[in-house]
Amino acid sequence: MDSLWNDAAAAACGNELALRAYTSRLLGGEKALAMYGGGNTSVKLRQDGEDILYIKGSGSDLALVTEKDFSPVRLEPVRRLIEREALGNDEMIAEFRAALKDPQAPRPSIETVLHANLPFKWVEHTHADAVLALADTRSGEAHIRAAFGDAVLVVPYRHSGFELAKVCHEVFARHATPDTIGMVLLHHGIFAFGDTAKESYERMIALVSRAEDYLKSRQAWDIPPHFSAAPAAPAAQIEAGTEAIAALRRDISRAAGFPMVMNVCGDPMSLAFARRPDLASLSQRGPATPQHAVFTKRLPLLGRDVAGYAAAYRCYLAENAPADAKRLPDPAPRVAIDPAWGFAAAGINAFYADATAEMFRHAMTIFCRAEALDEYLSLSPREVLAAEIEYGGFEQAVRSKHELTGQVVLVDGARANREKIDDLLARGAAVVGLDADPAVRTLYRRCDYLGLAWAEDGIGSVLEQAVRRFGGIDLLISDNEGLAKACRALLDLSPVAN
Ligand SMILES: [Zn+2]
Repeated sequence: MDSLWNDAAAAACGNELALRAYTSRLLGGEKALAMYGGGNTSVKLRQDGEDILYIKGSGSDLALVTEKDFSPVRLEPVRRLIEREALGNDEMIAEFRAALKDPQAPRPSIETVLHANLPFKWVEHTHADAVLALADTRSGEAHIRAAFGDAVLVVPYRHSGFELAKVCHEVFARHATPDTIGMVLLHHGIFAFGDTAKESYERMIALVSRAEDYLKSRQAWDIPPHFSAAPAAPAAQIEAGTEAIAALRRDISRAAGFPMVMNVCGDPMSLAFARRPDLASLSQRGPATPQHAVFTKRLPLLGRDVAGYAAAYRCYLAENAPADAKRLPDPAPRVAIDPAWGFAAAGINAFYADATAEMFRHAMTIFCRAEALDEYLSLSPREVLAAEIEYGGFEQAVRSKHELTGQVVLVDGARANREKIDDLLARGAAVVGLDADPAVRTLYRRCDYLGLAWAEDGIGSVLEQAVRRFGGIDLLISDNEGLAKACRALLDLSPVAN
């Protein structure tokens, strides 16, 4: 992994907080380091006679952060929280709020106590894929020590928040040396730190590069090509496949209790993974880091038995959920693996379906590399569920904002119907725009729009592309009888009443 540090861009930052935001974006722009709210960064600054910890606010995306996304907390009171024996999440968050210098600032990251207690000005935390491929194995600790030597400390898994801060603090106090530049958190991710913005950022990149080199040196980097190209399916089978995909989306939506968007990922790597001889074992061990489970659930569904998956998920909840959990996840899968397609990724809307797909793509590379190196292992179901409960819950809030969230509408004559499409997108629907003019393809550049041209694509191909992208069609806006007839089977498979 290359450093993207640029002297001119750094010099243009003007102040250290802007520099903090700059290198955070460099980290967040690399999906193999952090995705969708994962990871966090901080800097300790002296202001008006007191030390202030600027830490990334909870939930913001490292790839997009600016100065205003960092929360200024007084360092001393949050640092001293480490002296407590125990501290519940609610109480800890109240302490953070009391230490906030600006009451309007975003809620500080759950890892604030951990950052506050590291004796470095700059601190970086990511869920780097390459590091997880070493750490998520039977001999994870030995691989970490062999790859990093004295450069990092190894920290056993603890739930994020106070428990994790406590164990990191203990490990650091006992084992840190002048050579220590980072910490690997087993089954979670990695920290790096330094005295300057550049040093800290480049230490993260250097450590991740070492993990990559270690995997390469053990022939565990290149993902083995188990995939042999399947013969092209005849058109009739493709249509049957389209209906099977729409039926899967309907079943997943019904299990969830709301309509979901679903996309099918049939790229060579996904197909190769779906056709691995050891799929039933490797795919069913759990997520690479607990944060992934918020998007992918703990396990993917193998095949199409959604009801069976939901029943097993309810057992998982019954056995592992804490008695005081306020809200539990729905029992529907978010990833379904099928050797015929690759995998399907579901989400409350097109953005979250794409996020699920991207997370699972990264997860597959970690599973494959860890298994090539040693034996891939994940956390216990109880530990994964704790993260699912803690970081989840955003879906309901997003859904409540737009009444058509999760629904898919096909609009014929898209170029003449822009007002209609604007309205559908604004109300949360995913839209397939169809038109004789190929310009329909670029009518909108956003993840919840797919433009398809009539002239080059027959009806079967149009519907197949729509269903592979969004999972089905819930509403057709067209006066074309042929199209309506061809869509009938898909509309019948909609999870939404027509
Ligand atoms: Zn983390």
